[in-house]
Amino acid sequence: MMHLNEATLLNNVRRRYYENRIYSYVANILIAINPYIEIAEMYTPETIKKYQGKSLGQQPPHVFAIADKAFRDMKVLKQSQSIIVSGESGAGKTESTKHLLRYLCYSYGSSAGPIEQKILDANPVLESFGNAKTTRNNNSSRFGKFIEVHFNNKFQVVGGHISHYLLEKSRICSPSSEERSYHVFYQLMAGAPDSLRQKLKLTQPDDFNYLKTGCTRYFASPASEKTLSPSQKSAAHAKQGPLKDNLVDDVQDFKTLDSALSRMGISDADKMQIYTMVAAVLHLGNVEFEDDPEDTRGGCRAKQSGESSLAIASTLLGIDASELKQALTSRVMQSSRGGVKGTVIMVPLKVYEAVNARDALAKAIYSKLFDYIVNRINESIPFQASSYYIGVLDIAGFEFFTINSFEQFCINYCNEKLQQFFNETILKFEQEVYKREGLNVPEITYADNQDCIDMIEGKTNGIFTILDEESKLPKPLYTHFTSELHTKWPNHFRLALPRSSRLKAHRSIRDDEGFLVRHFAGAVCYQTKQFIEKNNDALHASLEGIVQESSNKLIQSLFSTSNTLKGKLSFISVGNKFKTQLAELMEKLRQNGTNFIRCIKPNTRMVHQQFDGALSLMQLKCSGMTVVLELMEHGYPIRAPFRELYSMYQSYLPPKMQNLSPRLFCEAILGSLKLHEKDYKFGITRLFFRPGKYTEFDKLIKSD
Ligand code: ATP
Ligand code: MG
Repeated sequence: MMHLNEATLLNNVRRRYYENRIYSYVANILIAINPYIEIAEMYTPETIKKYQGKSLGQQPPHVFAIADKAFRDMKVLKQSQSIIVSGESGAGKTESTKHLLRYLCYSYGSSAGPIEQKILDANPVLESFGNAKTTRNNNSSRFGKFIEVHFNNKFQVVGGHISHYLLEKSRICSPSSEERSYHVFYQLMAGAPDSLRQKLKLTQPDDFNYLKTGCTRYFASPASEKTLSPSQKSAAHAKQGPLKDNLVDDVQDFKTLDSALSRMGISDADKMQIYTMVAAVLHLGNVEFEDDPEDTRGGCRAKQSGESSLAIASTLLGIDASELKQALTSRVMQSSRGGVKGTVIMVPLKVYEAVNARDALAKAIYSKLFDYIVNRINESIPFQASSYYIGVLDIAGFEFFTINSFEQFCINYCNEKLQQFFNETILKFEQEVYKREGLNVPEITYADNQDCIDMIEGKTNGIFTILDEESKLPKPLYTHFTSELHTKWPNHFRLALPRSSRLKAHRSIRDDEGFLVRHFAGAVCYQTKQFIEKNNDALHASLEGIVQESSNKLIQSLFSTSNTLKGKLSFISVGNKFKTQLAELMEKLRQNGTNFIRCIKPNTRMVHQQFDGALSLMQLKCSGMTVVLELMEHGYPIRAPFRELYSMYQSYLPPKMQNLSPRLFCEAILGSLKLHEKDYKFGITRLFFRPGKYTEFDKLIKSD
């Protein structure tokens, strides 16, 4: 493009999208628009071959071209590479990641080899346990991941490694009404053999509290639908509601999951333990509580109706039912006087406290199971022979909803860090181009977001630190945390009280319940109500104690590794763990070569051939693309090789000039035009223009 700005960029990607050309480049950055339809020829083995060994631009823009560039850079520069895939929910990050991995395994591994197969098998497994159907995406990843494909010194695939971040836990106990919980729950119920379902006492999603709040329709395979009568079928379809999706096939997906687990070397017995934990979570959710009229201290008891669920959950978890019951309805406290530990007392819990304890246990079991599964995947694809790797980052982009909580805060913090990295990298890239081309250009500067990052992660008064300090108090309060925050950052440009206009829009947020952060991509208002509990990974002591003593070996091992101070920790910071993980990731990214893919969701209806301009532009802004344009504006954003200019303009000029070499040709033209010297620069292979100056150049030639 010779005229590069927000409007032309948007227009260009729109035009290309309608022609099914979903990929475009801005500099070296790939923009990928979700087509919401399989464009079959785009990902065939033949297409893969076309991109092997080709530099960027030799073939039409493609996610394969980025994979190949990463591979070639790794080989030539002898440096590991990262590919950062970003975009909002449903934009196509995970699909792009899968295409990248397939390309690398197919092109530079032995395509049918066991290691490649395991790397590719990791996806269906991760998706079963970490993806869910949401209103934004039928297969939404509810965790972030960095997948490394490792190569030996001959540049063949020899292993892999997955790091995962921030699995969304609230979904486990209460998916919202039009969404589902994690796929694996429905897959087990729809697809597991009868004997297994009977063993785990699984019936249907409607029977479980943890699934009931969500959309419980599970997606029978087309084959099993054939067995339904027409009226059953229409009832089933009506129930699918707004989430109807023919692509989600829980029956088939269970088979895929089960065989992928086996190929990964997970034995039948281990698989059984995994499924058992999944089922245990569901049964646990059916244990309900009521006020206990016989308890004078106002405690609660498990409801009679949930007795059988309690019994099943205890059996599946390998713990004693009455111990579980007690741990859920009371808390052990040790009185201490003058630092000396005194008697142990049982404090009865109120109904809501018991519910919280139960949910905390369910979340802990499921998230530890997820960690375990990722570990097993990593054990199955070790990378001892590795010399280099290509890492693909698939993590949620900048988010802002009507109500934003701790999850959005973490993800937006992560995006601030990635945005800063993006700016640094692109800037460096621009400056390298200028240097390579021998242009003597002064340093370019850009809007810096370090102040925002410092405010969030700073050691002394950072938001995470203030939150952790609150959590360590004997009685942490979110209102106190919020006012502390505003007190410690009184006049900071980045932090404000929630806007009054926003307060009116959703009255649920008061000043003491929230704060507003001005992120690089826009202001977001956070509700702090659940910050304290969402930031705490610890179970209360008696619960931690009973799972550590489980007769189920898997559960015992998962909880025994959690902390060495058996059952003594009352606070484990989620924010701090994420901060540390992110610091490690950034360190890796900084050491590697970098490639960026920006995914764009063209419409919210998830349909083919519909481009919402405002929505897409918003995403280009959030992904920092318009910052790139701005950055380029300060330099020489329009550049064209001498050869190209020669062939474009030779017909406008007298024949004797046509014998000149392309460079001399360009010098001759510019010598004869009234363009200011500051507005262009000659590089070694190309001509560079200041913003808008190419248009002038073009007009002058054509009018002369
Ligand atoms: P989330 O953040 O919710 O995980 P995501 O960015 O990972 O979202 P994907 O799951 O990759 O989004 O894509 C959503 C859906 O869009 C896919 O299930 C698929 O139907 C469609 N889609 C995405 N990319 C492509 C593509 N290249 N070709 C065809 N369909 C695609
Ligand atoms: Mg995804």
